[in-house]
Amino acid sequence: MDRIRLATVWFGGCSGCHMSFLDLDEYLIELAAKVDLVYSPVADIKEYPDNVDLCLIEGAICNQDNLELLRKVRARTKVLVAFGDCAVTANVPAIRNQLGPANRQSVLQRAYVENAQHNQSLPKQDGIVPLLLPRVMPVHEVVRVEHFLPGCPPPADRIKALVEPMLSGAKPRLEGTQLKFG
Ligand code: SF4
Repeated sequence: MDRIRLATVWFGGCSGCHMSFLDLDEYLIELAAKVDLVYSPVADIKEYPDNVDLCLIEGAICNQDNLELLRKVRARTKVLVAFGDCAVTANVPAIRNQLGPANRQSVLQRAYVENAQHNQSLPKQDGIVPLLLPRVMPVHEVVRVEHFLPGCPPPADRIKALVEPMLSGAKPRLEGTQLKFG
């Protein structure tokens, strides 16, 4: 039987959702016996691969790099899970949306000038900071999402409940709008 191909992606989030995933502790060893982790910030893999069965997406979509990778992830993945409140609602990263159309310039000014202790200046070199989107978006505003796992972060026992069926080799699939395994 083909092994299940699992990925996790980190967009605009604090990494707390991935920390909660790591809180699965020894259960990760059981999971590793059944599942190949084919892309993740906790593994040094540069290119998002084809034919991924399930991807946990942490974070909101904040910049052009997020947008391009998310589209690639969608095209190469059967089941996407919005993993945590930043992915589900945009949550903390979307606070800048309240500042209106000038929010991009405001956050760069705050980060690189007002809050900087040294070398107060905006980044000038092209591409050194990914282009911020005019508005931070939850994942489902950009691509189709099959499942939502809210929480800030989702607790480990709820992550475990989601991935548990994969321990018996059951592959994730959609039945109507419901995520099923088998
Ligand atoms: S949902 Fe909470 S824990 Fe997860 S990335 Fe966002 S702020 Fe961090």
